[in-house]
Amino acid sequence: MQVIHDLASLDAAARSLGRAHGLGGAFVPTMGALHEGHAALVRRAAQLAAPTKAPVIVSIFVNPTQFNERADFDRYPRTLEADAELCRAAGATIIFAPSVETMYPTPAAAPIPPLPRVATDPKLEDAFRPGHFAGVCQVVMRLFKLVEPDHAIFGEKDWQQLQVITAMTAEAKLATRIIPHPTLRDPDGLAMSSRNRFLTPSERTIAPTIHRVMQHARSIASPLDAEAHMLRELQHAGFRPEYAVVRDAITLGSPTPDRPARILVAARLGSVRLIDNIPR
Ligand code: AMP
Repeated sequence: MQVIHDLASLDAAARSLGRAHGLGGAFVPTMGALHEGHAALVRRAAQLAAPTKAPVIVSIFVNPTQFNERADFDRYPRTLEADAELCRAAGATIIFAPSVETMYPTPAAAPIPPLPRVATDPKLEDAFRPGHFAGVCQVVMRLFKLVEPDHAIFGEKDWQQLQVITAMTAEAKLATRIIPHPTLRDPDGLAMSSRNRFLTPSERTIAPTIHRVMQHARSIASPLDAEAHMLRELQHAGFRPEYAVVRDAITLGSPTPDRPARILVAARLGSVRLIDNIPR
């Protein structure tokens, strides 16, 4: 496995694969602080790349432009050595861990692409993290231009992000196929997240309530009643919920009986903001 930090080495890797630019292969973009959820995405990438012996690329970049709170960016864990070991064990062949200067040398090198409606209209992450999806689309577009992956694997954990990237890729007519991967959870139901390490022991016992509450909401026929139930239960458990909603799974607009729906929650617990979702 090769660890690449700069564009000259990325170009050299492309040439050694017999390509003029870009690496092709299967790609997992991350911000590092990797856990078993990320490892599952890398293993899926390795499966997709195996038939053509294409590279399995993981990017590790804590992208400043997608953080809407400076403190969250500053304290985001940076654990490159452990990340590299996890990637190697999961089957990665190349880690791309660029600096901010390498990713954003000039404004023109990494323009913010047009944002799809699912990034601006639902009033979910877009409302509570203003500017977040502009940063996500900017970094993913820049990475896709550099890597030119055949496949890119994204976790369902970040459901709105998955829909945003899928729509952006389709609208820009990119050749990259977006592959969703189910959410990995701890045994008690808490969705794995790099931010879970900031939960205190007592918050950690409360955190799986999100998953339990969403599961119960599934059994409530009326979306409005399901939403009211989730908000009430989350507040009761000590969360500060931002949203707890039932939405169309793809547009994230109002649900309709004839289309797949999704239950989505964002809630703060102490200093940590947790998000999760399940199918309706
Ligand atoms: P990040 O944690 O923001 O670096 O996420 C990198 C990728 O891993 C994104 O596609 C996430 O959706 C995905 N991911 C993060 N946590 C999980 C999880 N628990 N299960 C599956 N995918 C995940």
